[in-house]
Amino acid sequence: MTKLSDLPLRSNLVGLEPYGAPQDPVPVSLNVNENTHPIPDDVVADIVQSLEAAVRGVNRYPDREFLELRESLAGYLGAGLTSDNLWAANGSNEVLQQILQAFGGPGRSLLSFTPTYSMYPLLASGTDTAWIPVARPADYALTPEGVVAALEEHRPDIAILCGPNNPTGTPLEREVILAAYDAFDGILIVDEAYQEFDAERESAVSLLQGRPRLLISRTMSKAFAFAGVRLGYLAADPAVVDALRLVRLPYHLSALTQAAATAAIRHSVTMLATVDDIRAQRDRLEAALVEMGYKVHPSGANFLLVGGFENPDATFEALRARGILIRNLHIDGHLRMTAGTEAETTVLIDALADLGPGGAR
Ligand SMILES: *Cc1c(COP(=O)(O)O)cnc(C)c1O
Repeated sequence: MTKLSDLPLRSNLVGLEPYGAPQDPVPVSLNVNENTHPIPDDVVADIVQSLEAAVRGVNRYPDREFLELRESLAGYLGAGLTSDNLWAANGSNEVLQQILQAFGGPGRSLLSFTPTYSMYPLLASGTDTAWIPVARPADYALTPEGVVAALEEHRPDIAILCGPNNPTGTPLEREVILAAYDAFDGILIVDEAYQEFDAERESAVSLLQGRPRLLISRTMSKAFAFAGVRLGYLAADPAVVDALRLVRLPYHLSALTQAAATAAIRHSVTMLATVDDIRAQRDRLEAALVEMGYKVHPSGANFLLVGGFENPDATFEALRARGILIRNLHIDGHLRMTAGTEAETTVLIDALADLGPGGAR
């Protein structure tokens, strides 16, 4: 049988593992930070109607510039943005890949503050961009001073600030974004995959005016309950959008994706109605974990990074055996868990209580 190592793979891919959160058909799946609430029936019906109309036209290529969707996304974000400021792709992972294709590449670098989203180094190596990991402070919170020092030391071509940060949940302060932008002359990406869950901070889209090197990455995969459709988007200066047009594949967003996403945005209020409830379940989960003696890191997202596990691998497997999937990121003593519905959160809390102190039983 041919093995991967028998093939003439690009040297920077040798030894790498593909992104691989387990996809088990378990009853309680809290491992990839999805919105676990189903989409309401009336929204489903409207999306299906839009899809039906789109299917009648699929003998033709879709609108390469997906203008209607970009207008919808601009309206959803507000902040005076127009369709010229908006771009989208099949998940924000693809948006990030396009940014690296346009602004990274051989001889260029991408800096991010670790622990952070595990896809950043994979996207860097896939585009031959050097990845510069800079460790966060012990509480994971970025400060203007720390960020400026790292950017001045390393002078990256691209830097990513993830706020709220995955996997730590740490919120991102606006003063950090502003200090970072002024500290170097590269592309600054703010990854706002979880922004809708942060009740206290507004989106950085309001900072775009007059900052052409600032790119705000967003997704419909998390709060918007649309992970299966694959729709990520970007708000930035129109010149940045023109740069991404140079590297995107023609017609990269299918007619079905465009139709489904445009229809869903019409129902944004309904689609986001579960966000308050998810936040309440996150806070309830946090309180229960603290009560059990765990250390819970402050989170502005729909998940918690939890420390105090004696043997995270064993706890992960014990929960999996009970039909509960959470995330083991191999951070010392820690596990990450998504806040689900009230029922799912109850199952998780009960299982952890049953495992005893340190998740050891
Ligand atoms: C989930 C996630 C994304 C993106 O996901 P897509 O489904 O590709 O839009 C991007 N950034 C972070 C930090 C995430 O956690």
